[in-house]
Amino acid sequence: MNINATYINIYNVCKRELWLHANQIRFEHTSDIVYDGKLIHEDSYPLRSSKYEEIEIDGIKVDYYDTKNKVIHEIKRSNKIEQAHEWQLKYYMYVFEQHGVTDVKGILEYPTLRKTQPVVLSDVDRDRIKEIIADIDKIISSEECPPLQKKGICKSCSYYEFCFTKEVEE
Ligand code: SF4
Repeated sequence: MNINATYINIYNVCKRELWLHANQIRFEHTSDIVYDGKLIHEDSYPLRSSKYEEIEIDGIKVDYYDTKNKVIHEIKRSNKIEQAHEWQLKYYMYVFEQHGVTDVKGILEYPTLRKTQPVVLSDVDRDRIKEIIADIDKIISSEECPPLQKKGICKSCSYYEFCFTKEVEE
């Protein structure tokens, strides 16, 4: 099974969305959730400073890695600090570790909020990430799509019409 950062991100948002996404049912052109962070990059860091490198490894793509200080910078356009962002960054740090790059720090940056948040990867987080990976495997391999659970984010989700129209018809 190939887990990637998108799966980790969606897992922390909605299990049903994870199953739909993993099973190739996609309406992502309107999704705010999956591609959170993409648009802000050009505005925030118009020119990649030479201190940052782009790293692509094992299903993750880090746009701004400060190699000298071993810090991953993850930029979010969201105007809300969310737990899913933190887990996405922790997953990046975990993957780096799995490839022998240890003691990496993380910083979440929210340009619209003018806020930054340091993120660390603890032993508890490492265990939790292993559990998340196992759970993702179980969810996406299942024949059944997880049931609909109304959440605040549903209205901005690309699957909104799919989920709610389908429920009404059933
Ligand atoms: S509309 Fe709601 S329940 Fe359906 S996939 Fe999106 S977040 Fe999940």
